[in-house]
Amino acid sequence: MTEDLKQAKESAEEAHAVDLNQLRQKISAIDQQLLALLAQRRQISQDVIVYKDSQTLPLRDLKREQDVLAECLKQGQSLGLDSHYVTRVFREIIEDSIRCQQEYLQHNANQDSARKLVRVAFHGMEGSYGYFAARNHFARHGGELVFLGCPSFDQAVKSVENGQADYAVLPLENTISGGINEVYDLLLHSQVSIVGEEKFQLDYSLLALPGSSLTQIKKILCNPNDVPECSKFIYSMPECQVEYRPDAAIAAQLLKSSSDSSLAVIASEETARLFNLEILKKGISNQSGSFTRYIITGRKAESVDPRIPCKTSLVIATAQQAGSLVEALLVFKEHGIALTKLESRPLPENPWEELFYIDFEGNPDSEHVDLALKELTRRTRFIKVCGCYPAHDLVQIESKIVPTDSKVAAATPVAPIEKQKAPKAAKKSGKGYRLALRDHKSEDTIIDVRGVKIGGNNFVVMAGPCAVESYDQIVACAHEVKEQGAHILRGGCFKPRTSPYSFQGLGYEGLDYMHAAGRTYDLPIITEVLSTEDIERVAAKSDILQIGARNMQNFTLLKAVGRTRRPIMVKRGMSSTVEDLLNAVEYILAEGNQQVILCERGIRTFETSTRNTLDLSAVAVLRIQSHLPVIVDPSHAAGGRDLVPPLSRAAKAIGAQGLMIEIHPNPDKALSDGPQSLHFPEFEKLMLELL
Ligand code: PEP
Ligand code: MN
Repeated sequence: MTEDLKQAKESAEEAHAVDLNQLRQKISAIDQQLLALLAQRRQISQDVIVYKDSQTLPLRDLKREQDVLAECLKQGQSLGLDSHYVTRVFREIIEDSIRCQQEYLQHNANQDSARKLVRVAFHGMEGSYGYFAARNHFARHGGELVFLGCPSFDQAVKSVENGQADYAVLPLENTISGGINEVYDLLLHSQVSIVGEEKFQLDYSLLALPGSSLTQIKKILCNPNDVPECSKFIYSMPECQVEYRPDAAIAAQLLKSSSDSSLAVIASEETARLFNLEILKKGISNQSGSFTRYIITGRKAESVDPRIPCKTSLVIATAQQAGSLVEALLVFKEHGIALTKLESRPLPENPWEELFYIDFEGNPDSEHVDLALKELTRRTRFIKVCGCYPAHDLVQIESKIVPTDSKVAAATPVAPIEKQKAPKAAKKSGKGYRLALRDHKSEDTIIDVRGVKIGGNNFVVMAGPCAVESYDQIVACAHEVKEQGAHILRGGCFKPRTSPYSFQGLGYEGLDYMHAAGRTYDLPIITEVLSTEDIERVAAKSDILQIGARNMQNFTLLKAVGRTRRPIMVKRGMSSTVEDLLNAVEYILAEGNQQVILCERGIRTFETSTRNTLDLSAVAVLRIQSHLPVIVDPSHAAGGRDLVPPLSRAAKAIGAQGLMIEIHPNPDKALSDGPQSLHFPEFEKLMLELL
């Protein structure tokens, strides 16, 4: 090439470069204008929601949304823009408006949670899928955001419970691999509420150090949860070893700090950008368009403005009998509520029992949902509402949009405002309790404990020593209980003794003995739990948990046992009224556990000829007012064994649905309550009289 030619080519290239730069500047200027206009549009849509809110107008006006889109289509057509393109862009813009407007209503409905600084916990570190989901969800939050990476889901939830974070973002289910069991179990056991959801499309890519090639890869680091999503790709690399790391970003960080070009990680394209890694292969998931649904959990339940389409999530346990799940689910049909999800999980402590996780469309603040939940409470053994939150998927904007001047433009009805129920305070009947009453549930509650039915027309006898003293002693009692046709083995392992110098029980050692004795003689067992820290361990072994008279108003303990799936027997406090007892058990019922047994065990009166006065009138009152089973403990009322048989007969005659009786192989040597414990022959005689 001659010098002249060379120069001419260079100057032509320069001229083109100048042109390209100018063109790019023009495009950037237009982008700036677009952004400024979008921001302006958002601001006006905020003014619209302020107006709508002041006039209590519905959030969405589907007709108006259609008109906007149709008008844009018409304009677009005249400017040479194709309809598909215009529809996509404007759907996005309209949806953004709706989400911002929802946000406004949500903030108004939950003033105290509308904070300036929001701390969001997630599993993993910056660059993990959880991080991106969290960032997406809180993108519209006006204030400052702080993201806290946690080593586990459990830690993320704990950081919310202990106040280090305001929200935790947790993956609940994936369209390919299904539910994430650990998160389901956390929902059941923690005290956080679901306040939002985020559906997040995961893009899976294979990343490696810059310069690496696919053929060099010998090892893939990935999060175990991501393996089912990308299993086909992983199988296609049979030479590769797969190693688990807690999350994709940790794997990426590890890769980054190594100089190993045979190493790769499964993570997103955004993670590649964040860590400056090379994408060896994009879209390696089994199915394109896999979504993970994340839930946003907060310390307190948040209410949702009735104009926002929302979902409610709950966990239920139904009776172990044929048809009980169907009966529970019929409630939704009867109240016209659409279920969006039903998932079952075995109970960790009772693997043969199932828990059901349900999502439905509706707001518990609306009358029909409130009624449905009340009915569901009557048909379940356990119910926990995990939260109500705005649904991520907005009602789709009508897809067949036609220009506004068309004669066939269909009018879509405006979304109705759900009828709101009266505020809770206004509905109070004056009493602080309702769930234990027959007004709530007219028929008797019958509790099935390993085949023994408590309540209704059944009469059960629980018997055993005041305290478990040794393996031989509890086995002897279990044998006697079985032999005489009684149903449940009682025994105290943790004893609430009046004096600190008295025998305090064998604790967990006693519980192991009693559990073994119960299993040997096929008897369910009941034992007292004294403190919240012991509940989980005691519930793992004891079929029924007893709350003793001295703890009847230990509200923290009552609430905590209300979150378990074991039946709870609450003994009336010795200076408590029947109302106090019903208020106390409301704490358990309100937490979700519907399997509660009431126990009258005598109260303090001026009478001194008995240890306590057995209040048989209370039994009659409770039977009339409450659907819950009523048991009488004549032993602690009597204080002496000679009164136990007559009090037992009287209790049965007045309508008690069972008895709890103290027996001992050698009452004279008993470490507690010997004088009121029956010898085995006395118990045999009493059982003959009773059954
Ligand atoms: C018991 O049943 O072991 C007991 C301590 O009873 P109460 O709580 O009724 O005194
Ligand atoms: Mn006792």
